[in-house]
Amino acid sequence: MKINILHAGYCTAPEHIAIHGGRWRSIHFPAMFALLQHPRFGLMLFDTGYSQRFFDETRKFPKRFYRWMTPVSLHEEDLVVNQLTNFGIRPADISHVFISHFHADHIASLPDLARSRYVYMPHAFAHLRTSPPSQDMKHAFLRGLIPSDFDSRSQVVDMTRPILLSNEYAPFKTGFDLLGDGSILGVELPGHAHGQMGLFVRDENGKLFFFVADAAWLKQAIIENRPPHRIANLIFSDPQAYRETLGELHTYHLTHPDTQVIPSHCDETIRSHETIQRQNPNAARR
Ligand SMILES: [Zn+2]
Repeated sequence: MKINILHAGYCTAPEHIAIHGGRWRSIHFPAMFALLQHPRFGLMLFDTGYSQRFFDETRKFPKRFYRWMTPVSLHEEDLVVNQLTNFGIRPADISHVFISHFHADHIASLPDLARSRYVYMPHAFAHLRTSPPSQDMKHAFLRGLIPSDFDSRSQVVDMTRPILLSNEYAPFKTGFDLLGDGSILGVELPGHAHGQMGLFVRDENGKLFFFVADAAWLKQAIIENRPPHRIANLIFSDPQAYRETLGELHTYHLTHPDTQVIPSHCDETIRSHETIQRQNPNAARR
């Protein structure tokens, strides 16, 4: 499978919020998405980054606070649909979107992907569906980003059918075979948001990638097992579980140094992969 790591816009926030003991200066948090070119199932995305709809949805109060808290930069060329065009791909060519969780910076392009199936863990969306709109800000959720035919295109992960993972994935013990061919494994990464899902995917050269979404905001947090500032607990679904998940990622990183662990918003990590792709243009094109 070919894997391209890309991003659609970024926000800025102080580094010391993202990692305990970090600097006070503001840093960039890219909104990563990944293009997966599966030999059998076709073209797929992991998350979708920001889109113009984020600005449309946050024009009025109180949602405008969302923009103020995390100022967003997004240019025309950053839009997922425009980046897909660079690969010669139309939005309707994307067969599946794996949704890590429903924070706005991960789902803002869903309405652009008119033919995709949406793959996510059921509890990631169930609580949003039943919670009143007044709670949306607390969950960093913008319900206007959910397409009207979302349910009919959803292919919810069957949580009753976990698979046992081999030692290769320890300390992660169970996962979900998302396509039924073993090529994309979903794992629960609890704590940051309800039902957050990470992905294990192997590229065409056999290199293993572990997309960990927002289980850590910076790679350094995983390397040093260093959590964010305590204030971040206010937005986490389960701060205790977040800490445990970070500890597991730290152990995984130490014991599997060859795996590419990709936190969605780590500028250094995302940039380094994008640079490698640019240096190998043939690997980045269909
Ligand atoms: Zn998030």
